[in-house]
Amino acid sequence: MQHYADHYIGGTWRPATGPDTIEVIDPATEQPLAAVPAGTRADVDAAVAAARAAAPGWAATTREERLAALTRLRDGLVAHRAEIATTVTAELGTPIGFADAVQAGTPIAVATAYLDVLASYDFEEKVGNSTVYSEPAGVVAAVTPWNYPLHLIVAKVVPALAAGCTVVLKPSEETPLVARLFARIVDGADLPPGVFNMVTGLGTVVGAALADHPGIDLVSFTGSTAVGRAIGESAGRGIKRVALELGGKSANVVLPGADLARAVNVNIANVFANTGQTCTAWTRLLVHRDQYEEALALAATAAAKYTPGDPADPATRLGPLVSARQRERVRGYITGAVEGGARLVAGGPEQPEGLERGYYVRPTVLADVDPDSAAAQEEIFGPVLVVLPYRDEAHALEIANGTEYGLAGAVWAADDETAAAFARRMDTGQVDINGGRFNPLAPFGGYKNSGVGRELGRYGLEEFLQTKSLQF
Ligand code: NAD
Repeated sequence: MQHYADHYIGGTWRPATGPDTIEVIDPATEQPLAAVPAGTRADVDAAVAAARAAAPGWAATTREERLAALTRLRDGLVAHRAEIATTVTAELGTPIGFADAVQAGTPIAVATAYLDVLASYDFEEKVGNSTVYSEPAGVVAAVTPWNYPLHLIVAKVVPALAAGCTVVLKPSEETPLVARLFARIVDGADLPPGVFNMVTGLGTVVGAALADHPGIDLVSFTGSTAVGRAIGESAGRGIKRVALELGGKSANVVLPGADLARAVNVNIANVFANTGQTCTAWTRLLVHRDQYEEALALAATAAAKYTPGDPADPATRLGPLVSARQRERVRGYITGAVEGGARLVAGGPEQPEGLERGYYVRPTVLADVDPDSAAAQEEIFGPVLVVLPYRDEAHALEIANGTEYGLAGAVWAADDETAAAFARRMDTGQVDINGGRFNPLAPFGGYKNSGVGRELGRYGLEEFLQTKSLQF
């Protein structure tokens, strides 16, 4: 087991100021993997001071200099792809195939997309007698969760640096090892000291210290709605800009005339990916009541192919959840739904057979769930799909829009036009039409309690810019 005792500050690994550490547990074996320092306010002060000191120099770099530095960073991600995947599998439990394709592959795709955005972005615009300049927003605090640990780091750090901002990162305490690997990759990319800094530790200590730190200009947060609210309040008091990417309870709406079997199969793959720990997961499948039993049978057949197992085995499609706490939470939702009258179409709250150790949960499909109940309204963040019947399109829209969230969703219909017309009426930030693919340049973010601000593409870069107008 590795014991780390440093943070990445000012271009070097600097000893932590406090004695406390956080153990990182392998969720498949329940064994400790490593310990990292639990940062203190003094560590945060040092990191913010380093970022502030580096800010004027980095803001003054040319587009070409930033492109060169970020290309080296992206190339470092490519060179470390295998290590990224095995690290995420070890600390998060993501099955290795998905870890390589998505946990490592998506950050590379996103970093590459930002290079394209930076190469062509107009930082200067003429508006009448004014010239409007897009300038860096300043020193950024990036606070990230554990479910796509590297993707969510890259989706903040790369556009912030591209915009000319400097950064202090606070990664999740559940997945600090891939964050340390990222810091090593940044170190190898030869950025000026202090442009990127990282302090590991608890959200309530390091995250909270960053959110109300006078040396921070912008807080970019991804995580739960509850913590997002606290960060928004704190940042608001300091008149800091804030971007919040929060939870979801996304609906997959299958309209009559759609390819039901395909829609259900893709939904099962979507909701069990990363063991259901995906903010955009389609956790509610909405089908017409005449097709309800057919959809349930299709879902049960598809779910049976997801046997939980060792995430390091390339044949495994469903790994453990990240932690014992998360497993108990997910089981609690399944038990609560069944007690409330829901029908178990697949899975259940018991530990999967043959897996005595590890934070595993059975892939679960629930029918006859009250649309107002917790299982249909709250983010479960585990391999649990709720299938809901609707009477007609208006009813489907009412159910789809009937939660506090609005992050993602999907619509399937006989043709794209019909599906798109329905999608336009959904209160949500992203909708996939008849199985549309992920686009790393499309703006990503939430309506309602799923957040404020957008990541990815041009919109993601602009989160880290502020404008100045000169009148002539
Ligand atoms: P979380 O809110 O518990 O933690 C997120 C981060 O915030 C962690 O680094 C944590 O240490 C920190 N934090 C915790 N309390 C804090 C405080 N008081 N002040 C400052 N920072 C604090 O979320 P999580 O459990 O790590 O992640 C799961 C959640 O993230 C889910 O709700 C999921 O939907 C959401 N998520 C959203 C997106 C998106 O893009 N919208 C993407 C991934 C995950």
